[in-house]
Amino acid sequence: MTSTPPASSLSRLIERERQQFIELRPRSRALAERSQAHWLSGVPMHWMADWGTPFPLSFAAAEGTALRDVDGIEYVDFCLGDTGALFGHSPPAIASAIARQAVRGLTCMLPDQRVAAVGEALATHFGLPFWQVTQTATEANRAVLRWARALTGRSKVLVFQGCYHGTVDETMVRLRAGRTVVREGAIGAPLDNAAAAKVIEFNDFEALESALAAGDVAAVIAEPVMTNVGMVLPAPGFLTALRELTRRFDVSLVIDETHTISSGPAGYASASSHSEVPGLAPDFWVCGKAIAGGLPCAVFGFTAEIESRMRKLLQTRAAGHSGMGTTLAANPLVFAALEAALEHLHTVTVHAAMDERALYLQCTLQKIFDARGLDWHLSRVGARLEFGFGPAPRNGSEAEAAMRSEYEHALHLWLLNRGFLVTPFHNMMLTAPMLPPAAIDALCHEIGAFIDAT
Ligand code: PMP
Repeated sequence: MTSTPPASSLSRLIERERQQFIELRPRSRALAERSQAHWLSGVPMHWMADWGTPFPLSFAAAEGTALRDVDGIEYVDFCLGDTGALFGHSPPAIASAIARQAVRGLTCMLPDQRVAAVGEALATHFGLPFWQVTQTATEANRAVLRWARALTGRSKVLVFQGCYHGTVDETMVRLRAGRTVVREGAIGAPLDNAAAAKVIEFNDFEALESALAAGDVAAVIAEPVMTNVGMVLPAPGFLTALRELTRRFDVSLVIDETHTISSGPAGYASASSHSEVPGLAPDFWVCGKAIAGGLPCAVFGFTAEIESRMRKLLQTRAAGHSGMGTTLAANPLVFAALEAALEHLHTVTVHAAMDERALYLQCTLQKIFDARGLDWHLSRVGARLEFGFGPAPRNGSEAEAAMRSEYEHALHLWLLNRGFLVTPFHNMMLTAPMLPPAAIDALCHEIGAFIDAT
């Protein structure tokens, strides 16, 4: 059974929670009002106003899974910057690596002395021989797609319905009434994004084959498990078919593990023999957000074959201005953090601690849903857990159709008022390695209480 409270009782609950949110946070409120004068929508990135709270929480400090706002309210953080702080806030190994480097130069446009060692560590961890660094996953994806178009001479990118790969224009698309269109809400694209993209449903073997057979696709970019439209798991054999078909039609396979890095130290589908899908062997592999423990950094890896084609292409042109790369990426501060993260965070031990907590959270929530006769599903990729309404969706459209944004919004407000931070979008929770198990019980208790109150 899917519980659907009457709209009027839900809006009364939201009103009560909004009032409580306001009363408890006079300092956040004052700072939000003051910020209206000089920041668009009162925030430094306009989407920060999309949390749906009466005004944004003003952050004061965080350590591990404890986050404090300017009113002194403590939260257990299950949002963790939507993966940027996957390993907890300010992991000691990262904080001290940054502190050591901070007095020795922050940015210089030269390769840092750690580059050789970090390249070796990336190759060992993720199984691809060649690497590049960008500041964000968005930039890594943008560069990878540019390379794929340059190497294949084809113009289109294939994505899955419901995807998010950052603000990369050609991935900001949706499938509507069988056609590829610019996604709702996107602003000011330079070209018609939809002309540079094809969208199909995840887990649709036939659509994949016919889209690739057309011969105009340079790259497929995919998360191995979709995580930005709720969570959609791959159907048995789908990722293998994706690899076989991209190979058959000479299309680059780009696996974006910016979120699914939660699955383990080798990711879900990297080229490492320790990943969950070891034979997948993507042509490009991307990871941002948590890769350097929380500093702005992303990496992309690629095969020796791709590297040789890239090198040949570079030889045909004058140096400079490829349309990829930014001044500040790959700076010494980031390399200090990246080196420390590969050694101390992307490890079997750290992931085991995160996994254990996520499994406990999953089992406890399942009991809560079962006790109330709810048919809600739980999906998990290592330390990343998501619940949704009804059975697990098989593709992005099913996932989108099952979303209940007002109900989710009410839940998020309820949890914030009781000291739990979860992502503002859908129902995702991350479990950092130091998360106290008692905090999991407390979160589940509050989710149960919310369900009972609605
Ligand atoms: N790839 C995936 C799978 C993501 O979920 C995101 C952001 N949520 C990005 C790329 C972009 O990351 P960033 O905003 O750090 O560029």
